[in-house]
Amino acid sequence: MLLAAERATEDLSRHGRTRVALGFPNSYEIGMSNLGFQWVYRLLNREEDIACDRFFADEDADRRGPRTLETDTPLGDFPLVAFSISWEMDYVNFLRILPAARIPLERTARGEGDPIVLVGGDCARINPAPLAAWVDVFAMGDAEKIVPGLADVLRRDLTRDATLAALAALPGLYVPAVHGARAEGAEDGKIVVQQFKAGEGALREPPHTTLLTPHTELSDKLLIEIARGCSEMCRFCWAAYAMAPQVRVTAEAVLEIAKRNRPLTSRAGLIATAVADHPEILPILRGLQSLDYHVALSSVKIDAISEEILAILTKQGERALAIAPEAGNERLRRAINKKVSDEMLLDKVRLIARSGITQLKLYLQVGLPGETAADVDDVVGLVDALRLVFLEEGRKRGRVGTLVPTVNAFIPKPHTPFENEPLDDPAALEEKMNRLDRAFRKMPNVTFRGMPVVEAIWEAYLAKMGPESAPILLEAAAGAPVRRLVKTHRDALMAVVRPARALALPEHETPRGVFDPHARQASPWGFIAKS
Ligand code: SF4
Repeated sequence: MLLAAERATEDLSRHGRTRVALGFPNSYEIGMSNLGFQWVYRLLNREEDIACDRFFADEDADRRGPRTLETDTPLGDFPLVAFSISWEMDYVNFLRILPAARIPLERTARGEGDPIVLVGGDCARINPAPLAAWVDVFAMGDAEKIVPGLADVLRRDLTRDATLAALAALPGLYVPAVHGARAEGAEDGKIVVQQFKAGEGALREPPHTTLLTPHTELSDKLLIEIARGCSEMCRFCWAAYAMAPQVRVTAEAVLEIAKRNRPLTSRAGLIATAVADHPEILPILRGLQSLDYHVALSSVKIDAISEEILAILTKQGERALAIAPEAGNERLRRAINKKVSDEMLLDKVRLIARSGITQLKLYLQVGLPGETAADVDDVVGLVDALRLVFLEEGRKRGRVGTLVPTVNAFIPKPHTPFENEPLDDPAALEEKMNRLDRAFRKMPNVTFRGMPVVEAIWEAYLAKMGPESAPILLEAAAGAPVRRLVKTHRDALMAVVRPARALALPEHETPRGVFDPHARQASPWGFIAKS
């Protein structure tokens, strides 16, 4: 049923002697909404003599074990089983799929005849260390840079050890069995992530949906990636630092893809680290509009908001928008490098309300480095000030809208200047979320959404943990709920998310927002370098 409903945007031959199973460790619906997964599937099938099947975490509905969608083949029959992992939360599904497929979980227990297990996607390039006991090869970088070399090695039909050795010699591939637990056997002890430079990236074919399907949340939507990286460089943002320098595709190339595929669908989605942070965003939106596409933007960078962008969105019937002020005042926004003044925020929210948007989500954070109690109160003050503007303009149009402050805990992420900052004290986070909840309950036309603290702890742990996390991940894969894991392993989790060293260092020794090379070297991801 799923296959029958799919429509391809490119005629993929899918014939080849060398077979690859490419999986997304979550549902079909979520996996097929992921452009990176869709693009790698296309690139692998474009390779001569390679035939790539897909599998998902929900394909194990019966007791036969996970099988591929296209040919109903058990995963153990493939020489290469590759996973695209974009969220650390999916580690548990990855750990369930391998035993269900009767593939030995420990990489050291695999032998000749077992598949080589490869993991790519954002998680591989952020911090591969927690999965290193179970993964033969990590693919770190843009698929266009990695797939051709990988395909060359697979076509050679080598023994398992020879394949691993050949893959380890390729740039961007980290092979723990060859390179060692901290890549000490790699050149200069570093694995260099392979990614496009700004100039060559602008000329690349824009990644876009390979298979349209009605069975996703983005039903039959043609996704096109217009940029990677963001010029704002907020100090907490992994994507901005890892993807820098920003790579942008030309409007001409984006519209060419859109035009070619217009007979297949009338729905388009633009993918970028920050969609509106593209100098040609208006020509792109105008072009899609003239092709009669319906295009939605999930979130718009605040300084890029303009009357024309809003008019294009609302003309299509869009009534909801999200922006990310992140902090309640200018001082803290400056500290995180978010270059948005209170005045700009008020002006942009006025424009948004005037355009006819009636639901505005505001992404904010608490627990940011250097935050004071007054800064948390300023979150309330800011939302109230924006609310008054939003309501005033809404009344003029006869339709009063809702503000949705969505407050997350600051999560320190690898590869950002805040990578060594601690997660806020859980009790303090709880108190802040409760304070916000009480304040926003009293505010009409405001719906508060706060991140549960237990989720913040788990998310922060998943981002920064090292190989010692293996038993905890296995417990999670066996079905232990997050709340219980956080309670049972509290000390181990706190040692990672609130390291004593980060808390003890006097501020003058480690200026906030500056990379600390010594701490970086000691971190689980210390061996990852950028090309
Ligand atoms: S504006 Fe958004 S995407 Fe850009 S650096 Fe800041 S958080 Fe990241």
